[in-house]
Amino acid sequence: MALQIVHYPHPTLRFESLPIKRVDRQLRMFADEMLELMYAHQGVGLAANQVDLPIRMFVMNTSGQRGEGEEWVLLNPVIGRPKGSEEDREGCLSLPGVSGNVQRPRQIRFHAFDLKGNEIDWTVDGFDARVLQHETDHLNGTMFFDRMSDDARHELEPLLEEFEIDFRVQQSAGKILPDETIARHRKQWMEQYG
Ligand code: ZN
Repeated sequence: MALQIVHYPHPTLRFESLPIKRVDRQLRMFADEMLELMYAHQGVGLAANQVDLPIRMFVMNTSGQRGEGEEWVLLNPVIGRPKGSEEDREGCLSLPGVSGNVQRPRQIRFHAFDLKGNEIDWTVDGFDARVLQHETDHLNGTMFFDRMSDDARHELEPLLEEFEIDFRVQQSAGKILPDETIARHRKQWMEQYG
């Protein structure tokens, strides 16, 4: 089964993903595939629920280039100690072509585990902090436009509606699984890793 990036409004994007209790060979393969997809789509981060896996894992490389920067697979992330505030433009691989300004804390404390079980404890700011927050948000079912000002989000609404219509059209054409099947698959993954 090859993983695919799902687009808004796929229901798994709105799902609060489950903490991962076990790492196996398949999970490591999923992480590799997610990195592959992230680079192929010129992204800097990709959360597991963006490939329809309802588990708390994301991949990231803020350089966006394989072989450059630092590549991370991060599990069970927790964000704390927000400081300051900064606004910058964000986009999302689940909403290609859509972007907007999002206000977020400038600095955060970030805690997670890597695939080997090593503990990660960072204090980060700038673009790294923004990407870590965007991806952790995904795992909680939050999209970047949820954090935009009402006015800015209002401007995006026609674009979001296009995505909503397209999703339902593809679903009725059988190109996207029905919501009930998606929910059943999600339950299976939760039983395997949660
Ligand atoms: Zn995103």
